[in-house]
Amino acid sequence: MSEYTFCEASGAEGETQADIERRRASYYSALVTARRITVPGSRHLQYWDTCVQPSTRFAATMPIGENMHPEPLPGWPAPLARVLRRVASSAVGRALIRHPRRRTTIYYRNDTPESEPDHHTDERGPGHRQAALAEAAGQGCRALVWLNPAAPPHHDATGLLRVPDVSLVHELVHAISITHGGFRPARVDAVAARFHAPSLEEGRAVVIENMYRDESRYLLRREYLDGGAIAYGATPTSRNTGTPIGELEADTVRHFRLRAPGLASELERIPAHVCRYNPFRDLHVHRSPLRSAR
Ligand SMILES: [Zn+2]
Repeated sequence: MSEYTFCEASGAEGETQADIERRRASYYSALVTARRITVPGSRHLQYWDTCVQPSTRFAATMPIGENMHPEPLPGWPAPLARVLRRVASSAVGRALIRHPRRRTTIYYRNDTPESEPDHHTDERGPGHRQAALAEAAGQGCRALVWLNPAAPPHHDATGLLRVPDVSLVHELVHAISITHGGFRPARVDAVAARFHAPSLEEGRAVVIENMYRDESRYLLRREYLDGGAIAYGATPTSRNTGTPIGELEADTVRHFRLRAPGLASELERIPAHVCRYNPFRDLHVHRSPLRSAR
C-alpha cells in the first residue's frame, strides 16, 4: 500500500497565505459538502464523510491541512469505516466506542495518531488550546482524535505491531479521559521512571490498549516509552514489563471507575474466554489492588 501524498499549494507571486486560503475556500466550498457521521453504537463519536480540518470557519469546506490542495483522499472515509468495524467487533472496542461522553470527532492525519481536547468548538472558535486543556483536566470537554486509517500495518523498530485499529483504541482511551475529565497528559518524571510512560494518562491508555490487543490476538505492548512486544500468549507481569504493572493496572481501574463508571463496569463484565487480560474484571473479583510482584 503506498502512502498518499499531496502537492504543496502554490500561490501567485505576492499572494499571502491568507489570500491563498480565501481563494481556495471560496473555490472548493461549492464542491465539498461534508456531513457528520455518527459512529454506530455511539452517541458522541463522529467523523466527517469528507476530509476536513477542524477549524470552525472552514470545517465543512477545507479538506486536510494547511498548504495542501483539498483533493479527494482515497484514505478516507472507507478505510476509517473498516477500522471502526474491526474495533467494534471486539468487546473492549465496543465499550470504548460507546463511552465518550461528549462530542469526539475523528480527523485524518498522515502522521502519528493523537488525541487532544477540542479547542475548535463552535462556541469558542479555534485557538483556545489552554482553556480546553484545563477543561479536559477538570470536568471534561469535547475531544479530537487524529488518525490515518489507511496507515500500512507494520512492526516498529521495537518489534511491536502497529495497526490502525489498535491506534484508534489507544486514542479512544484518551478521548474518554478528555470527555469525562481527568485528562492530564503532561510528562511527570516520577511516573516515567516508575512505569516507563510519560504520564499516568499514557500508562492507562497502554493498559486498555493491551486488553484490546489480547482480545484481538495481537502481541501485547510491553511499555510506552521503549515499546516492545510481550511474548505471544503472555500477559503483562512485573517481570516481562520491567515495571510494577500491577500498580498501573490498579490506578487505571480506579481512574475509570471514578471518571467513567459506565465504561469500567462494562469492561469488568468481559469474561476471560473473550479477553484474558482484564484488570477491570480481576480487580473486581479480588476486590483488592493487584500485587505488583506477580
Ligand atoms: Zn497515548
